[in-house]
Amino acid sequence: MSLIVQKYGGTSVGTAERIRNVAKRVARFHRDGHQLVVVVSAMAGETNRLLALTKELSANPDPREVDVVAATGEQVTIGLLAIALREMGVQARSYTGAQVRILTDNAHTKARILEIDEARIRDDLAKGLVVVVAGFQGVDKEGNVTTLGRGGSDTSGVALAAALKADECQIYTDVDGVYTTDPRIVPEARRLERITFEEMLELASQGSKVLQIRSVEFAGKYMVRLRVLSSFEDADAASTGTLITYEEDDDMEQAIISGIAFNRDEAKISVMGVEDRPGIAYAILGPIAAANIDVDMIVQNIGASGHTDFSFTVNRSEYQKALGVLNAERDRKHFEAREIIGDNRIAKVSVVGIGMRSHVGLASKMFKALAGEGINIQMISTSEIKIAVVIDEKYLELAVRVLHKAFELEKGPDAA
Ligand code: ADP
Ligand code: ASP
Ligand code: MG
Repeated sequence: MSLIVQKYGGTSVGTAERIRNVAKRVARFHRDGHQLVVVVSAMAGETNRLLALTKELSANPDPREVDVVAATGEQVTIGLLAIALREMGVQARSYTGAQVRILTDNAHTKARILEIDEARIRDDLAKGLVVVVAGFQGVDKEGNVTTLGRGGSDTSGVALAAALKADECQIYTDVDGVYTTDPRIVPEARRLERITFEEMLELASQGSKVLQIRSVEFAGKYMVRLRVLSSFEDADAASTGTLITYEEDDDMEQAIISGIAFNRDEAKISVMGVEDRPGIAYAILGPIAAANIDVDMIVQNIGASGHTDFSFTVNRSEYQKALGVLNAERDRKHFEAREIIGDNRIAKVSVVGIGMRSHVGLASKMFKALAGEGINIQMISTSEIKIAVVIDEKYLELAVRVLHKAFELEKGPDAA
């Protein structure tokens, strides 16, 4: 008997029929003698609908109230799944994040999980119940409902698996694993049997939304056995999906590049003609950090006559806020700049692979492929296992396809 945490995403619970299918799979695992904790997302499109409603009433809705609204999506699906399970003769009980007591900080709309009280879940499991938990939500120490950021149900699943020391955390979604890139953009993309934790972390942080980045961070911190699978395949015929591994074993696929990630939710801000002096990066980015805005890439040019241009990227949803912060800082003479400009029509494409450590020439291969299509690179950033570029959003899909081909990712390591 093992303890399994299963997480089902929005498409997988998008209709009553699909919820019934999820219940069938859960019932089967339960019959096979496993203890099950099931985390569900809101029905497909529901979180978008709820967030749009808040925007209809205010351009800038209070984040606490946004969370009160957004968290209702998952409350519907936990109840429906528990009903479907009971209908099949499986004793199940649903809990919201607050009922479990998934304690988070108070950063509304992007809260972090601090602690999970697993007592109630363990009691139910010991009684043979299937426990159904709402993903994406928690509660802060004052009792306010919080949400964990878009895609946050993955993190709920992995965090519960970590807290319960589950034998495996299975993320069921609408694709049957992690692919070399988003199969919706590149139909030739190939499913990976296994991927190292480091690569998965990098892909997720560069925008592959198949797993939310924080879920991968949690998995690494607590060494959770994590697998991505399809909820649409027949449970009997189901593939083994993609397993996230923590060691580079010998029989592992030795690809140089394992995947391509991209992110459309980016915006670039450039502070032009600032003084080139100690403290300028802090003067610009300090207030951005104080406003709780995450900065991704940063580029500072070497400018002429003691002046420089300073550019960085932020999440597109925080673009206006970041511009507002900088303009206010400049008005208060905290720094001087000729001009503050922005572009929220950019995207980021990244190639990721641990093989990069021992191979040279990959960056130039990437740049050559993009140049061949006339795609201009606006910013570049590299790490040990990634090269990322910022380009005009309108070339994003083309860039992903061209790179997938240039690195021959459709072929797999054995064919190379
Ligand atoms: P869920 O609602 O189940 O959480 P998501 O839409 O959040 O599902 O994530 C699954 C989607 O992630 C897939 O449908 C696919 O379009 C996208 N995706 C992006 N990159 C990848 C990748 N490398 N491998 C698989 N899917 C990917
Ligand atoms: N329902 C939330 C969202 O759409 C959380 C999730 O699906 O993981 O972002
Ligand atoms: Mg998701």
